Amino acid sequence: MSSGKSAVNSDNITVLSCRKEDKAAFKAAISSTVEAILDSIRDDSAFSGIGPFDLRDEIRALPLLPENGDGWETVLDSLKETVLPHMLRTWSPSYMPHLHSPALIESIAAELIIAAFNSSMDSWDQGPAATELEVRVVSELCSLFGYGEGSDGVFTSGGSQSNISACIALRDRFIQERLGWDTKKKGLPDDYRKLRIYVSEISHFSFDKAAHMMGLGYDAVVKLPVDSRERIDAAKAEEIIRKDKESGLLPFLIAATVGTTDFGSIDSVDELRTIADRYGMYLHADAAYGSGAVLSSYSSRLGNLSLADSITIDFHKMFLLPISASALIVRDASILDAFQLHADYLNREEDEEDGYINLVGKSMQTTRRFDALKVYVSFRMRGRNGYRKIMDTAIGNASYFHERIKSDPDFIAPIKPELSSVVFALKGGDERNKTTRRRLLSEGIVIGQTVFNGSVMLKFTLLNPALTHEHIDMLIERIKKA
Ligand SMILES: *Cc1c(COP(=O)(O)O)cnc(C)c1O
Repeated sequence: MSSGKSAVNSDNITVLSCRKEDKAAFKAAISSTVEAILDSIRDDSAFSGIGPFDLRDEIRALPLLPENGDGWETVLDSLKETVLPHMLRTWSPSYMPHLHSPALIESIAAELIIAAFNSSMDSWDQGPAATELEVRVVSELCSLFGYGEGSDGVFTSGGSQSNISACIALRDRFIQERLGWDTKKKGLPDDYRKLRIYVSEISHFSFDKAAHMMGLGYDAVVKLPVDSRERIDAAKAEEIIRKDKESGLLPFLIAATVGTTDFGSIDSVDELRTIADRYGMYLHADAAYGSGAVLSSYSSRLGNLSLADSITIDFHKMFLLPISASALIVRDASILDAFQLHADYLNREEDEEDGYINLVGKSMQTTRRFDALKVYVSFRMRGRNGYRKIMDTAIGNASYFHERIKSDPDFIAPIKPELSSVVFALKGGDERNKTTRRRLLSEGIVIGQTVFNGSVMLKFTLLNPALTHEHIDMLIERIKKA
């Protein structure tokens, strides 16, 4: 199948350039890829249903680094035969286990531009338009979330990195202000074992990872109890923080979760701000999931996010952009100085005096993707009204599903959804729910599983804007039968 006639082959070292033959090779590779993707989509199931052992065998049998390259056509054929058929199809109406969305078509086109030019965000001379556009998008995000003059932000690889960056930067700031100690230069102060971060007991595990990487350890993360709606119980939270402070600990950060990963429940930023202020702490809002609702008709459910010192926004969840796309925005730009460091080979200090912005100084990454382009393209193409429809459909579908099963004697549906996730169970115990999920997976229907109050629960995460009420009705029937 290998063919020397192919425009992209192993003998022909090709990068995109102004040469006619390179342009032709680029066009041929992209067109044949588009063709292969489209041909591989034969129905609306989420997954082929293959099991892990069979798939592993198929993948193991693939040649990987042959002595002589196989050429483009052979590689593409093998992708068509072995890889594409077993890709997970995020656009399937039967796919709803995670906060993992289908990608808007225009944003996939934007990905092509990102890869074709391969801009890097570290310095102006590696991405002039990319740098200026990220700065412009970040400024728009700051106003969208209610931040004023003096705010700033940076794109990151995901919500985890956004959260970790916020924890580091706010920790450094706190230690500088309270202990007069420069953590960036000298490392942790003697009292570091007393530092505490407060999060919901159902917060994302990136805060534990952050504490580990910051040299504080998991024990520095205090898990606050939630109320019956799965939100931090503010009165209990205050009690815990007050006692910790009295016993000599150093509480420095509360992280509100604005859209918990499982339930979509929303901690009260307003109440937590009051507590943070009372005890001299910073407040971060992890809105990796919930941030999308800012463009919905239900934005008031998010509370006043601008009260937080920093906000995590994921665009690869409710906003339906391809992975990865996330940002951290901060109310006071100087918070990001935690990541500023100058190198003679990259971001000289005099650059900035002359107007050349080097974004590397705001990020823990050096080489970094131009993900802001996808936000620009989709925001501009769809506008507020287009995005409102997308968000309202997701939130509306969750509410429809919850209403349907709430009154069905086969199901338990303990929590009313605020966003687009619904946690529920079939009556009949843990085993029935586990088996049901596995059986559905082998039928190409992929739903989520989690634990609530010690019981195994199933989960729908409804991000797909093409999902209809009829499909939800059908899924309910399939679940009952499985
Ligand atoms: C998804 C999620 C994260 C992590 O984001 P990634 O982009 O997967 O790194 C953090 N917090 C919450 C609440 C999330 O839902």
